[in-house]
Amino acid sequence: MSHRKTCIVCKKSSMETPVTKFYHKDSKFYICPQHIPVLIHNPQELIGLLDGADTLKGA
Ligand SMILES: [Zn+2]
Repeated sequence: MSHRKTCIVCKKSSMETPVTKFYHKDSKFYICPQHIPVLIHNPQELIGLLDGADTLKGA
């Protein structure tokens, strides 16, 4: 794992786009504003990117 702050979905770094930090299962991740709706509404799309995403429910 690198220490760069990159969106887990598109891998853009905080140098290219604002990213916000969030926590999930004691791990921290970064996601850009473009992909926050994915996290909220379609977390199943994060399966394979976010550990445990298969247990999340879309809002
Ligand atoms: Zn992104």
